[in-house]
Amino acid sequence: MENEVKTTCPYCGVGCGVIAKVGDDGTVSVKGDPDHPSNYGRLCSKGSALGETVDLDGRLLHPEIRGTRAAWDEALDLVARTFSAAIAEHGPDSVAFYVSGQLLTEDYYVANKLMKGFIGSANIDTNSRLCMSSSVAGHRRAFGADTVPGTYEDLELADLVILTGSNLAWCHPVLYQRLAAAKAKRPGMKIVVIDPRRTMTADLADLHLAIRPDTDVALFVGLFSHLVLNNAIDQNYVAAHTSGFAEAFVASSSVSFADVLEQTGLPAMQLREFYRLFTTTEKVVTCYSQGVNQSSSGTDKVNVILNCHLATGRIGRPGMGPFSLTGQPNAMGGREVGGLANMLAAHMAIESAEDRDRVQRFWQSPRIAERPGLKAVDLFQAVADGRIKALWIMATNPVVSMPDADAVAAAIKACPFVVVSDILKTTDTARHAHILLPSLGWGEKSGTVTNSERRISRQRSFLDAPGEARADWWQLAEVGRRMGFAAAFDYEAPAEVFEEHAALSAFENEGGRDFDIGAYAGLTRQTYDTLAPFQWPQPAEGGKAETRFFADGGFYHADGKARFVAVEPTLSDRTSTAYPFTLNTGRIRDQWHTMTRTGKSARLSSHIAEPFAELHPRDAMEIGVGNAGLVEIESPQGKAVVRALITDRQARGSLFVPMHWNDQFAAAGRIDAVVPPVTDRISGQPASKNVAVAARKF
Ligand code: SF4
Repeated sequence: MENEVKTTCPYCGVGCGVIAKVGDDGTVSVKGDPDHPSNYGRLCSKGSALGETVDLDGRLLHPEIRGTRAAWDEALDLVARTFSAAIAEHGPDSVAFYVSGQLLTEDYYVANKLMKGFIGSANIDTNSRLCMSSSVAGHRRAFGADTVPGTYEDLELADLVILTGSNLAWCHPVLYQRLAAAKAKRPGMKIVVIDPRRTMTADLADLHLAIRPDTDVALFVGLFSHLVLNNAIDQNYVAAHTSGFAEAFVASSSVSFADVLEQTGLPAMQLREFYRLFTTTEKVVTCYSQGVNQSSSGTDKVNVILNCHLATGRIGRPGMGPFSLTGQPNAMGGREVGGLANMLAAHMAIESAEDRDRVQRFWQSPRIAERPGLKAVDLFQAVADGRIKALWIMATNPVVSMPDADAVAAAIKACPFVVVSDILKTTDTARHAHILLPSLGWGEKSGTVTNSERRISRQRSFLDAPGEARADWWQLAEVGRRMGFAAAFDYEAPAEVFEEHAALSAFENEGGRDFDIGAYAGLTRQTYDTLAPFQWPQPAEGGKAETRFFADGGFYHADGKARFVAVEPTLSDRTSTAYPFTLNTGRIRDQWHTMTRTGKSARLSSHIAEPFAELHPRDAMEIGVGNAGLVEIESPQGKAVVRALITDRQARGSLFVPMHWNDQFAAAGRIDAVVPPVTDRISGQPASKNVAVAARKF
């Protein structure tokens, strides 16, 4: 173990434990941590290649002001001065932070505290808005809190695992490995994959339901009716722990079996088999990811899934429950500190005067944001129309990843003052910055992250900070001090930030809030340094090692009951004569986000070297393109040109294009330039999987 450091993978929401070692020649080797309860030693291709991504090529090594090297003091003073001047002249809502699920919890905590408690605006949103905000909204509607009820182990204990809108094999590979191993051990376990595309995950499935895009609401509303009509409801659970069942049933009654067939496009035999499996299997886990969340009906999709689990009482018991698969390594940690524009810290509600008062008293802050701030798409529209005078972007690349990406690029370019904190000097977004601040990368920074099963793990540094790079929490705290809030941002180490975060979670929390890690309030630096992965909640009086929620009710609405949400399916087909194809964007196995790190590994790039569009052979024939020929994809927002990948895994009339490529890796592969800024009305999450486009030979 000498020279080995236990840390956590910085990519997907599985949150695998990693053991890293720096060799005598400076090379970094990694292996899975056999003691980490989320991966037990496994890693996927991306995690295994982490050592190939930590070189200093392209790194931003010192602050810059308008392209010229600057001292930290000079840059931080200018940031603080400009933000303060904008606030003084135009009010707190004239400034904004756009942060990231790649930040550590400590970074996120300080950013949220500065914006909501001291600047007094809630204009802090995050790329996690693009990832799981529909799940947050669905959880809060049903449970009264953003609570993930189960654990990864539930997938192994279930007799039926449903994966909807999730290509687990590529997007959460180690969890897929755990599921595949469980099925190999117990072949009787059934797996149902619901996805318009026949993905690699579908190859593991006993039943693949290739539904039409965005028709999950009809599918699960139909299931809810089927459960009622076949006496599969847990009457005791529903009566004791829920409300709104009758209204949900009335809404579902308007959708017949024939309606579901028509909307989803499924064969009747397959639909019957799915409903039969759910009805007759007690141990059911339903996992959902971006295919559910990234939709204009994303929150409704989450709630119709939750309705089915609440109605059968299959929640919070081993092998049972709905399970939101988070995309990013710390989207959950961001939620816990209130890193979304519509949340407060420690899962408190910004709409609640009592919660606002509690957080303000804890922070002893001069003010507190009184209403939700701008969500990501609205935030960049406010930048575009001049309402935002100063913008700080941290650890994310919105010029590639936001919908309507060209408009986002133009908005950032026109913004009077843009600060970008990043590890790289020339990301598509960094190019538009007035101030560039060099951040620490994986292996250099220290803090915590929370994975999809509510497990908090340490990321530990094992490399020296390169050049003058500094932690994101430090940058934020320094700006806070310079804005006149020295006492509140007097942190010397991430352990102090984590300790405060833990103390806030327990502050006036007598079981009324789900997120409670009060056991770590008062922790020492030494305890922090040796912190082993743990699941929350861990209240001060001591918690259990493995935690599940809601087997016996105990929801977080005022009456302690869960809510059924009455939902009716809406029309999902957006195509027209001019834009006859449905575009679905997503991830590939071996790249991460906009490739600023994974793009450095030749091994990872050898999996798929170029951006592509999967399309059905007959569609390819009709537009006259052959395999590896170029296809131009166009919407009213913009265009992209990618290689054709002709495959019958893709349904007719639809295309799949990966989201990763940026202008540095492919001339016109930036697919988010094509995606319109359409969002879910409740969560504000962009609908990146059902976009009407034209496709033609280029
Ligand atoms: Fe990293 Fe996710 Fe792969 Fe685990 S599954 S090694 S967390 S990318």
